[in-house]
Amino acid sequence: MKTFPLRIGTPDGLLFEGEAERIVCRTITGDLAVLAGHCNFCTALGMGEAHLVTADGTVRSAACIGGMLSVMDGTCRLLATTWEWEEDIDTERAQLAKQRAEEMIAKGGLDDRAYKRAQARLHRALVRLSVSK
Ligand code: ATP
Repeated sequence: MKTFPLRIGTPDGLLFEGEAERIVCRTITGDLAVLAGHCNFCTALGMGEAHLVTADGTVRSAACIGGMLSVMDGTCRLLATTWEWEEDIDTERAQLAKQRAEEMIAKGGLDDRAYKRAQARLHRALVRLSVSK
């Protein structure tokens, strides 16, 4: 299968640089798969699971929380706000974060801003739990 150059990073540094067969991630408008030969493209990322297939066929999953993805002249660059490989996810921490967010939402009395923050926290925890299942 054809491959393409891919770089994945966060503001903290480079997490992957190499040839990939496929990267699948959640954008703000839905799931996106990038393969070799993809047209030039740029999008904002949402919160969701990401799946990378490297040139040797290795499949790696990650929680991707926001950022930007671009494809330019065959090279894909993914700059995530937060990116956690499956093996780096602390499941217990995500479970506790989910519980806390659910309790806040259930308790009620949150203003609009606090409600949105609790929902976003819950969403992040659910993505982490789904990747580390
Ligand atoms: P928590 O309430 O547990 O901090 P959060 O969703 O508020 O969760 P974030 O603000 O999204 O956390 O992340 C802060 C930092 O902690 C980031 O560097 C993120 O990668 C890391 N992080 C958060 N939760 C986890 C987790 N369950 N496993 C590994 N790293 C995590």
